[in-house]
Amino acid sequence: MKDLKYGGMSKNKSWRRHGPNRDTWSRRSYLVATVGVAALSGCSGDTGNGDGTAAPDEGDGEDDENGEDEEEEERPEGVSAEEFESGPVPDAYLSATSLGGEQRDPDGLRTKSDVSFSEYEDAREMEAHQPGTCCANCADYIPDKDGDGFGACAEVEGYVGREDWCTIYESLPEPEVPEGMSEDELATAEVPEPYRTASSQVGETRDPENLSSHEDVDLMESVDAIEEGVARPGQSCGNCAEFVPDKNGDTWGACAKVEGYIAAEDWCAIWEHVSEEL
Ligand code: SF4
Ligand code: SF4
Repeated sequence: MKDLKYGGMSKNKSWRRHGPNRDTWSRRSYLVATVGVAALSGCSGDTGNGDGTAAPDEGDGEDDENGEDEEEEERPEGVSAEEFESGPVPDAYLSATSLGGEQRDPDGLRTKSDVSFSEYEDAREMEAHQPGTCCANCADYIPDKDGDGFGACAEVEGYVGREDWCTIYESLPEPEVPEGMSEDELATAEVPEPYRTASSQVGETRDPENLSSHEDVDLMESVDAIEEGVARPGQSCGNCAEFVPDKNGDTWGACAKVEGYIAAEDWCAIWEHVSEEL
């Protein structure tokens, strides 16, 4: 992993001293039929214990005739199971650009079954899955644009949750260190002028005089944070309310709360899902 970007800070796991983060872990949005309690316990349903630990099974306890515990979970209002699976997605996503800069082509998408689209806990059982990887840190992910908790994908059809994963996952490219700057300077460097008082992706204005340091918020790469269990699957700067996306094509962004250069694949302890502010 790219753990040299922030020197010794990249593996800092002391996030709990900052208190629980504010993730309101969205629940899956289609009928989930699972075999018994053990199978349900791994689903990426509400793990909202606020301490990074998994919540117990939320099955309704009503078994169907096959002894399966069937639970209907929330979908965005008015979205059918079929639409959720295969689309179409809302207009805002149809030809939107992904975190990695890829434009979605609604006529050139793969089906979810083609790419073994899975919830994170199921993906962990797959040989192809690398720990910590999920849609939130995939180059093809298009974060939530309408506040329903779901995004889309530049390569796969239907609604996509940030904590999902599939076999064509693609890492976001690591931004290059800007010319004239050393890697060690990234954490504290003044960001380029267009970012200094910019608005975050939900309209929060960045105040250069009132920012936390990378160390204060335990900034690290989201893949590492998820792998180590300090972040939940689906959390990254790219879908954080405070993120100021790239404005000059160098693939770096900034943050309305944290100083220095910030990349879409990063994460910190004050992460706040963009959906909460849309
Ligand atoms: S992991 Fe798959 S479904 Fe998720 S954003 Fe990437 S390509 Fe799309
Ligand atoms: S964008 Fe969000 S997660 Fe990333 S550094 Fe800023 S507050 Fe932390």
